[in-house]
Amino acid sequence: MNAARAGKGRARRVLLLAPLCVTLASPALAQPADWSAKPLQSERSRAYDALHYRVVIRLDLDRAAFDGEATVSLTSLRDGLAAAVLDAERFTVTRVVSDWGEPLRFEQSATELTVHFERPLKRGETRSFTAAYSGKDPVAGLRFVAATADNPALVFSDSWPNNVHHWFPCFDYPNDKATNEIIATVKRGLKVAANGRLVGVTEDAAANTVTYHWSQDLPHSTYLMFLAAAPYVVVKDALGTLPVSYWVYPQDEAKVRATYGQTPRMIEFYNRTFGYDYPWQKYDQVSVPSGGGAESTSATAMTHAIMVDDARAADFPAIGIVSHEIAHQWWGDLITLRSWAHTWLNESFATYADYLYYRHERGDDEGAVNLDNKLNAYLREAKTRYVRPIVTDRYEKPNDMFDSHTYPKGARVLHMLRAILGDEAFFDVLSHFLHRYAFDAVDTADFIRSVKTVTGQNLDWFFDQWLFKPGHPVFDVRSDWDSARKVVTMRVAQVQDFAKGVPVFRIPVTIGVVTSEGRTSTTVWIREKEETFEFPMPSRPLLVRFDEGNVLLKEVTFPKPLDELIYQLQHDDVIGRIAAAADLARVKDDARAFEALVSCAQGDPFWAVRRAAIDAIAKIPGAQSRAALTRASADPNSSVRASAVAALGDLKEAGLVEFFRDQFERDASDLVKTEAVRAMGKTGSTAAIPILERASAVPSYRHMVRKAATEALAQLRRDPRR
Ligand SMILES: [Zn+2]
Repeated sequence: MNAARAGKGRARRVLLLAPLCVTLASPALAQPADWSAKPLQSERSRAYDALHYRVVIRLDLDRAAFDGEATVSLTSLRDGLAAAVLDAERFTVTRVVSDWGEPLRFEQSATELTVHFERPLKRGETRSFTAAYSGKDPVAGLRFVAATADNPALVFSDSWPNNVHHWFPCFDYPNDKATNEIIATVKRGLKVAANGRLVGVTEDAAANTVTYHWSQDLPHSTYLMFLAAAPYVVVKDALGTLPVSYWVYPQDEAKVRATYGQTPRMIEFYNRTFGYDYPWQKYDQVSVPSGGGAESTSATAMTHAIMVDDARAADFPAIGIVSHEIAHQWWGDLITLRSWAHTWLNESFATYADYLYYRHERGDDEGAVNLDNKLNAYLREAKTRYVRPIVTDRYEKPNDMFDSHTYPKGARVLHMLRAILGDEAFFDVLSHFLHRYAFDAVDTADFIRSVKTVTGQNLDWFFDQWLFKPGHPVFDVRSDWDSARKVVTMRVAQVQDFAKGVPVFRIPVTIGVVTSEGRTSTTVWIREKEETFEFPMPSRPLLVRFDEGNVLLKEVTFPKPLDELIYQLQHDDVIGRIAAAADLARVKDDARAFEALVSCAQGDPFWAVRRAAIDAIAKIPGAQSRAALTRASADPNSSVRASAVAALGDLKEAGLVEFFRDQFERDASDLVKTEAVRAMGKTGSTAAIPILERASAVPSYRHMVRKAATEALAQLRRDPRR
C-alpha cells in the first residue's frame, strides 16, 4: 500500500509524494501514545486450505448493486470437518449447492457463512460448492463511485486489508493463498480489470452487457484479489514478452507517459536487484479514486491523483509510488505477511525498494535525500506520537501497522542491515528469501533464517533491537583535538529515553576525519551507553564526521566550532551540508555564519542544500535575509523557489503583495504558484483578492493552487488588515 500525502513541518511548503500510509486521512492519528496498551493478536488458524475461488459477479453501477455465484474449492486440514466457515459480510446468500448440484445446508451470521457438507470430510479431502448471493450499497470491499470532474462513474474493489469477504465468501486472512477467477458482467462501454490473464471477453447485445473473464493461475492471498470496472482507456506497453498496461480514464490518456512511462524499466531493475524474475503473467496499473496505491496481484489499484502531465512531471514525479507498488509484486504478493504483525515484510521492503530505484535513476545525492526524508518521516512520528516495535502482536486492527514505523523506519533498518552484510550478501539474502518462500505466507523468523542460511551470521542482536524493541539511539557526541598527543577524542553517549523498553543500541558506525593531509574513515563499534574513542591524526581536523555515509537510524547532537561548521557546509556530502546549514542557523549574530549561508544558498550545486540554506536564512531576521530570500525566489529549482517565497510570506508584509503576484504570474511551477497564493493570504492585503479569485480557477496538480487560493481568500475576508 502507498499513499500520496502532503509533507508537514518544514516541508509543509512542498507537496511530497511520499510512500507513507494507506489513506490520506489516516485513522492512526487517534492512536494512543502507549503502544503496549493495545490488544494482543495472534495469527488465525485454518481448518481447511482454500484452493480456488471462482467468482461470477454482475455489477450494476446505477443501483450500486451486485449479485453472483462464488464457487469455493478447499481441502480439509482436519479429520471430521463437518462444515466450512467462510467470512461473508453484508450480502445475502440465497442458496448453496455442492459441485454435483445437491443443495447444502447453510447458515449466515452478520460476518460468516457456514456451509455444512453432506458428510464430514477427512483430512486431505477436497470439496467444492457454490454460493449464490446478492448485495446492495456495500459499505466496504466494493466501492461504487459516482462521476465527478476527476473520475467517471465506476466500481472497484477495496479489498485490503480484510474486506474481500464483502464481495464474495472466502477465508479472508493473508495466511491462506488460493488461485481465483473473476467473471464480471457490466454494462457495455465499461472495461473490467482484474488479476491474472484475460481468458476472454464476451458481449451480450440483447442485454447490453459485456463479460470479462480473468484467471489468476498462481496462488495469492485474498486481500490481493481485485476488480475494477470503468470506461477505461487501456494503453499497452511491454517488457519483452511481459504485457504491461495502463488503465486510465479517457481524460488522462495524455498523462500516461509522464506518469507510468518508466514501468518496464522499473520491473527490469527489480528483476535484477531481487534476483527473481517478475512472477506474474502481466502487470496492469489501474486508475481508481482512492487515497493511494494498493498492490493487488498483477493489477495495482492506483490513485488517479498521481496522473501528471509532461510539464508538471519534474515537480511531481510519480516514480516513488509507481516503483513502490511494483516492488510489492514481490514483497507482499509473491511472499506475503502471515499476519499483520509482520507488515514490515511487505511495506518496509517495498519502501526500501522504492529508494533503490530512486537512487538508481537519479544518483547518489538524490538517493541520500530520499533516505533522509524517510528518516525524518519516522522521527516525526517517534517524537510527536509514539514509538513501538516494528514487529509486534499488539494492534487493534491491521491499519494500525501501516505507519511511519513500518514504512520508513523499516526501510532504514534494511539499509543498516545492508551496510553490515555488504551489498552482495544483502541482495543474496533477498533473492534466497523470495525463492525459498515464493507463493507462501511468511513471518519475520523466516527472513531471519534466510539471513543465517545465506551469510552464516547470527544477527539476532540486530533484529532484536531494531525489530522487536521500540525506539532509536539518540547520540550526544563531543569531540576534541589534543594537540600535544595529536589525537582526536570522541565521546559518544546514548541519551534516548530508556523507558518503555528502548534499548542501548549496539551498532557499527564510521567516523570520518578530514585534515589538511586528507580524509580518514574508521569504523568503530558502539556497545555501551557511553564510550570514548581516540583517532590519531597528523594535524588539527578541519571536520569530524559522526556516521559517515549516513547509515544509522538516529538522532544526533554534535556541537562544533563555527570554522568547522562552515567547512562542513562547503565540503561535506549532501546530508552533512544540509545538517551544517541547520546548525549555522542557530549561530546568532555572526556575520561569517550568515555569509556562509548566503553563499551556499546561491552557489551550492545541489538544490536540497540550497533549500536548507534558505530555510536557515529564513530563521535569521533582517534586511539582508530578505534580500537573500528574494534572490532565491529566482533559483533554477522550483522547490528552492517555493521555500523562498514561503519564507517571505511568513513576513506577513502587505507591501509584498505585488512581488507575490508577479511570482504567481511568472512562475510556471505549481509549487511556487501555491506558495505565492498562500503568501498573498498572509499579507492581510485586500488588494490580493482579485488575483486570488483568478487563482481559484487555475488548473494545477491535485488542484493545489485552487485549494490554496480558497484558503487564502477565506483568510483575507476573515482578517483584512488593509
Ligand atoms: Zn506499500
